[in-house]
Parts: sequence; C-alpha cells; structure tokens
Amino acid sequence: MQQPMQQGSLKKRVLSGMRPTGKLHIGHLSVLENWVKMQESYQCFFFVASWHALTTAFEETEFIRDNIRDMVLDWFSVGIDPEKSTVFIQSEVKEHAELYLLLSMITPLGWLERCPTYKDQMVQLSGQGKDISTHGFLGYPVLMAADILLYGADLVPVGEDQLAHLELSREIARRFNHMYGVKLLKEPQGYLAEVALLPGVDGRKMSKSYNNDIAISASSAEVQQKVKIMVTDPARIHKTDLGHPEVCTVATYQKLYNPVEYPQIVQDCRQGKIGCVACKKLLAAKLDAYLAPFRERRKLLEEKPGLLEDILNNGAEKARFEAAQMMTGIREAMRL
Ligand code: SF4
Repeated sequence: MQQPMQQGSLKKRVLSGMRPTGKLHIGHLSVLENWVKMQESYQCFFFVASWHALTTAFEETEFIRDNIRDMVLDWFSVGIDPEKSTVFIQSEVKEHAELYLLLSMITPLGWLERCPTYKDQMVQLSGQGKDISTHGFLGYPVLMAADILLYGADLVPVGEDQLAHLELSREIARRFNHMYGVKLLKEPQGYLAEVALLPGVDGRKMSKSYNNDIAISASSAEVQQKVKIMVTDPARIHKTDLGHPEVCTVATYQKLYNPVEYPQIVQDCRQGKIGCVACKKLLAAKLDAYLAPFRERRKLLEEKPGLLEDILNNGAEKARFEAAQMMTGIREAMRL
C-alpha cells in the first residue's frame, strides 16, 4: 500500500515534465543532468507531458507512444532513478484532467490571452500552416498549473521564457485559496537552472527538425559521422592556417566534452599546429566515451521486456496516490 511521501520527509518537492518528442539529443543533456542532481536533494516528480503534446500536435498522434518510450528510455539511461523519483505519464493520472477542469472555471480568460507565449506561438505555428486556435492551446497554461499544484510542488525548474507561465500558476493558486477560504494550493517557486546551450553540428540551434542533432543514444559510428560533418572555422583551409576557435562549433564541444585538453587545443588551433581532422578525432573519442554508459544502460532496459512499462506503471500509481489526496482537499474546498 502506498504511503504519503510528504510524511516524515523534509525534502522540498520538485516537479518537471517534457513533451514526448522521441529520442532526445545531447542539447537536452544539461536539463536531464540537472534532474539527476536534483533527485539527490529533492522529492522529484518527473512526468511525460502527453496531454501537453496534444495542444499543438493533436493531429499527429501516430508516433506518440513510440515517442514516449524513446524519451523515457533516455531519461533512465542518463541516470533518472525510479527508486528516487516518481516518473510517470501525465495521461495515466486522470487527476491532472480533473484539476485542469476545475481550475479552468476560476481562471479569467484575460489571464490566458495576455500570456506572452500564447500570441508568439500562434503566429509562429500559423506561419508553419498550423491552426492552433483551439480551446486546448489557449488553456494549456491552466493544465500546466494543474500539473504543478496537484503535487504541492515547491520548485519548478524553468527557463526564463517559462517564468510567465509559472507566475500564472501562482496567481491561480492564490485565487483558488482566496475564493474558497483555504490554504491548500502552494505557490511554486521557479528554479532557474543553468542550461548549457549547445549548437547543432551545422552551428545553428540544435534541433531534430534541422537534422543537425546528435542523439543521446547515438551509436559510436553515428557520433563519428556527426563530428566529421561538424562546421569549423571557415577561414581554415590548411593545418598551418591560424585558427579562430571562438567561431568553431568543434571548439564549443571540446570545451564541454574535453575540458582538460581544451586550452591546449585552443592554443594549437590559433598557432596553426593542429588540423581540424585531428581535432575532430579527439572530440569524437571524448564524446563517444561520454555517451557510452548512457547507451549501455538504455540497452539493458530495452532488453528486458515489460520493464519500462512496469517502472512507468509503478510511477503512475505513486503519482495517483499523491494526486488523489490533493483532489480530496480540492473537492472538499469547492463543496463538490
Ligand atoms: S582545429 Fe579544432 S578548434 Fe580549430 S578550427 Fe579546427 S576544429 Fe575548430
């Protein structure tokens, strides 16, 4: 039988989720590695935002299950530990939908229409031929508030661009507590984690849609191939040409994945003492070694049929237990 986790635990609660986009790339590693660190000091709830995915991709659900599986395999392969954290799929915990509905009743329309990301994303996605003028898209910050408030999260890791959404969650919590005369919903705080921005192999923002990414689960051969096509200082033709590592994508990666040799590489590059081919070989070896343990753990999980499903079912059960307690209080407060 499940026991409430809050009892006897002084650890603060953290909640974070990701839309299921399939295999993640190494640009996601800094967020995931923050999660891995957080689970040592906090009570963490990490969820697959399966309903959030539908707010913009409601017509493209054919790959959603595979995408969930691939993404969660990446989470566990980098060290998210289901013994330490509650890991679950949002749509397996129906309380998220119930709280979303109830909070929708008290959220003024103007709060949602004023959300800075709402208009930006509308323009951006309609530019791509996508009509997202739906109830679900307008209301997704309320769903996000429900996700957070359902578990009484103290902290939510956010980027600068998500602070407005978090503020909305805080406003909704205040409005609920004031309206029903309770102190039930906790106002979450933002946790601004340091996120390393890694360019794609062509120097642009790393994105699967640009095909310039390196998957966390990439094989050794894929790593070699991706590093081989990585853009370098365009002014360098010959090994003896003086290089400019500050404009080289390979150098950005060396700093992160080969920090010990990085200063020497920079010096040698500037003095024309190292060629780009040799430099890339050094990087490919380091990056491959960095990803090898993730690949290994992923393989172990993939080889055991049903294991991933068991982990996620167990996580959903733990999440439901916590969510059910909160919903009892919420229904009570609203006299339902
Ligand atoms: S030597 Fe290395 S750092 Fe210098 S331009 Fe070539 S790839 Fe970039």
